[in-house]
Amino acid sequence: MRIVFIGPPGAGKGTQAEKIIAKYATAHLSTGDMLRAARDAKTEVGIKAEKYMSSGQLVPDDILIAMISERLQQADCQAGYLLDGFPRTIAQAEALDKMLEQNNTPLDVVLELQVPEDELFKRLAGRGRADDKPEVIRERLAAYTNQTSPLLKYYGGKGLLKSVNGLGSVEEIFAQIETILDRYK
Ligand code: AMP
Repeated sequence: MRIVFIGPPGAGKGTQAEKIIAKYATAHLSTGDMLRAARDAKTEVGIKAEKYMSSGQLVPDDILIAMISERLQQADCQAGYLLDGFPRTIAQAEALDKMLEQNNTPLDVVLELQVPEDELFKRLAGRGRADDKPEVIRERLAAYTNQTSPLLKYYGGKGLLKSVNGLGSVEEIFAQIETILDRYK
C-alpha cells in the first residue's frame, strides 16, 4: 500500500502512523524525523533546514523533493510506504506525482486527520518540543493552513482523499483508519 498521511501539527499523526506501520507493515517515511536526524548529524541539508524548522516555516521544496526521491528508491519502500509529513505543498505533491508516474506506482489513498485549530494549539503547547513555543506553533499552523491544506482539494479532485475525525481516543481514531485501509490491503 502507498499511503500519504496529511494532518496539521498536533493532530496525532505520529501516534497513528506507528499503529499503521505496525498493522500494515509498510515503511514509515516521516520527513520531520528525517530532517531532525539531518539537523542533529549536522549534514549540509540539516544545517540548511534548521533555520526554517526552528521558526516553524516549511523547509524549501527542492530539499524535500530530493530527499524523498532518494528515499523512495530504497528497498524497503518497494512494497509500499506511509508518507508522513510529505507532501506539504502543491509543488511537492506535483513532484511526487511525477516520480510515481515514472515508476507506474500510483498512490492508493491519502488519509487526512482532522482536528480543529483551538484543540491543536492546546495540544502543541503541552508537548514541549523545541518548535512548540507559542509563536512557532502559530507559524506552523499558518504554514499548514496556507501551504498544506490546498492539498486536500488537490487529492480530493483525484478521488484519493479519505478524512478521519482526529478527536477521540487513540483506539477510536485508529478504528476509523483501519476501516479505510482494510479496503486497500
Ligand atoms: P514535523 O515533525 O512533520 O512536524 O516536521 C517538523 C518540521 O520539519 C516542520 O515544521 C518543517 O519545518 C519541516 N518539514 C517536515 N516535512 C516537511 C515538508 N514536507 N516540507 C517542508 N518542510 C517540512
